[in-house]
Amino acid sequence: MDVGLKRELEQKVYAGERLDRADGEALYASDDLAWLGRLAHHVRTEKNGDRVMFNVNRHLNLTNVCSASCAYCSFQRKPGEKDAYTMRVEQAVAKALEMKDEQLTELHIVNGLHPTLPWRYYPRVLKELKQALPNVKLKAFTATEVQWFEKISGLTADAILDELMEAGLESLTGGGAEIFDWEVRQHIVDHACHWEDWSRIHRLAHSKGLRTPSTMLYGHIEEPRHRVDHVLRLRELQDETGGFTVFIPLRYQHDFHDSADGKIRNRIQARTTMASPAESLKTFAVSRLMLDNFDHIKCFWVMHGLSLAQLSLNFGVDDLDGSVVEYKITHDADSYGTPNTMHRDDLLHLIWDAGFTPVERDTRYQVVREYGPPVGLAERRSEPQQVWA
Ligand code: SF4
Repeated sequence: MDVGLKRELEQKVYAGERLDRADGEALYASDDLAWLGRLAHHVRTEKNGDRVMFNVNRHLNLTNVCSASCAYCSFQRKPGEKDAYTMRVEQAVAKALEMKDEQLTELHIVNGLHPTLPWRYYPRVLKELKQALPNVKLKAFTATEVQWFEKISGLTADAILDELMEAGLESLTGGGAEIFDWEVRQHIVDHACHWEDWSRIHRLAHSKGLRTPSTMLYGHIEEPRHRVDHVLRLRELQDETGGFTVFIPLRYQHDFHDSADGKIRNRIQARTTMASPAESLKTFAVSRLMLDNFDHIKCFWVMHGLSLAQLSLNFGVDDLDGSVVEYKITHDADSYGTPNTMHRDDLLHLIWDAGFTPVERDTRYQVVREYGPPVGLAERRSEPQQVWA
């Protein structure tokens, strides 16, 4: 990058000035990863000090049966396929109860767009889960699912959200965002929820007092300019509502692997590669720099691996999800040896080991528990070192 432009961008960041589209694209064009990290770390430290938030949650996928066939998705199954499943309400509750002793604070629930499950099933599941685990916050459904509920129920999103909130919903999930730009989106998304509906539903949720996360699926057929466009749309909506809690870049995953029937469902992997660790760090850093009105940037370690998650804390990330006991969507596509189980202690050590102070949070980013600061590596040198896969 031109030295003058570099200096100009630096000055903007250190003066707290808002970056524009051209700035975002210029940052992606830079290969000076250490420089990008330094800038993002400055912003992250201004906003969050040396704190790294995490929560103890469980992911629950009620059904993998889906009417859509998004090109990147290895999770969906069609009715009648061998490993298609749909949980009865009691099964969902039993699965959630398995985590009772983990001091769980959140259930994260996302599902396929089931062609025949009635709308009434969804508020019923929430109600029963809430009854079984009254202290656990229910973060459930993507905007795509809410739009699907409109279709199968004939109700408006307004009425749907009211009913779900009545049943215990505390937050939507941030999924279904992928890449908003139609140039890319038309090739990867196979349902009817695009930017207009995704933003309509999150705007509505925010107006009802819900706070929601937001995501971006990167590292497939999109270009950096599409990522910049994506975060600018979110930034504009955040200016309007202030309702987003966090931004979560999700790394697109190839479908390698060993699902029960050995089929590869992902239809774009022949045309693309996955983002390298350097590209991921760059994406975290640029997102942090562009999203000046977002408090938090999250690394979902299941999709990035633990080593990269640790490094991302120096590239703008201040939030790690989560203490996940089971996570199906990625693990139907993952062959990296990333564990699918991390407990609170594992996560604490991962954060301390990177030189940060862990803070346990709940779904609304309220502090559940503060932990002590890290012990310096120099003081720990005589102890066995943990190696994060
Ligand atoms: S991403 Fe979601 S909507 Fe698309 S096919 Fe997969 S489960 Fe269905």
